[in-house]
Amino acid sequence: MTKDYICAGLFDKAFQALELIESEKYYLQTLELKLKINQRLKQWERALETLKDLESYCGEEYENLRIHFFCELIENGATEYKKKLKEKNPDHKRVKELLSNKNKISLECGDFICNCCAAKFDYFFWKCPLCETWDSCERLSYDKN
Ligand SMILES: [Zn+2]
Repeated sequence: MTKDYICAGLFDKAFQALELIESEKYYLQTLELKLKINQRLKQWERALETLKDLESYCGEEYENLRIHFFCELIENGATEYKKKLKEKNPDHKRVKELLSNKNKISLECGDFICNCCAAKFDYFFWKCPLCETWDSCERLSYDKN
């Protein structure tokens, strides 16, 4: 716990440093770094704000990330986001799983692999704990049926 606290403290310092970087040249990198820190600290609401800034700067939409952030919020008790997700992204696999109560791959055990960094795990994740890529987890081998 202390470790987490120190870690969070360092990130706060990092944030303060980031605020100082006003230069347009580094704006994109600053936003990307902010987003990374938001996610690592599980500050999903802040992550949504950073994502908005990033989107308006890049002129692109990162809908998949937004969906995951909403799902994280819902899983942490912010159920008010459920309706929004249901209306906007009913076909996303995580939304489907979140809104139904069956076939939860995220609760299954087995051999899983990250198809981005090739790390192996015996549990499922939506975001790789090592390389922090979303949707990179795949089942490595199927249980005999
Ligand atoms: Zn990975």
